[in-house]
Amino acid sequence: MRVRVYPLALGKMIKHALDDLNREVAGLLVGKYLKKGDVLEIWDTITGEQKSTPGFVYLEEETIAAAAEWVLRNRPGLYIVGWYHSHPGFDVFLSAIDIETQKLYQRLFPKAVALVIDPLKYAKTRRLQDLNFKVFRINQKGEVVAIPVSIGIQRQKLLESTLKGIETMELKYISGGKPGSEADQEKFEDLEADLGFPVDRLTGSLSNLFKKIRDRVGSHIQP
Ligand SMILES: [Zn+2]
Repeated sequence: MRVRVYPLALGKMIKHALDDLNREVAGLLVGKYLKKGDVLEIWDTITGEQKSTPGFVYLEEETIAAAAEWVLRNRPGLYIVGWYHSHPGFDVFLSAIDIETQKLYQRLFPKAVALVIDPLKYAKTRRLQDLNFKVFRINQKGEVVAIPVSIGIQRQKLLESTLKGIETMELKYISGGKPGSEADQEKFEDLEADLGFPVDRLTGSLSNLFKKIRDRVGSHIQP
């Protein structure tokens, strides 16, 4: 498999990573798998409630479930195709916890990949060659493998992914906890109206996440 990431999706991840250089940030990759050529395309990203420290981050389960449902309803033909997170200042690789997280994503979404960004050098220089990111997967032997990445330049997809990606910039927090301001509150209510169910915080084990996504999305996960 190889990965093709469209520029706005990459830009959103980099911006998110640059927003907080003191701790890890994470989000979800939205795109599609093309059997022809064995290519996974990343068109967009969305993010939401997360718990993070300088060396660890995870997305709330409810965020992942809500995002999967949102994508199903609002982005026909696109799917959750993995997750991204930042490693500010400690290079790009999958930690032991990341490997467990990635296994979970691959169980939920068979083609899922993990994109890891270290934004620190780029934050200092803003030079393209200092952008440090890689995409990983766990192979059948349980080993971490880096997946080759290229930037998507196909004209129509470039435009389409840009238009869609700009729209979801407002969905940065797809499943909020306590919104910080009135404007956020409005966005939050719009989102609830959009989703058709109240967005709340649920906690549970990872296996619950499976169930939540299956309940909401059913078998509409891209095979
Ligand atoms: Zn990590």
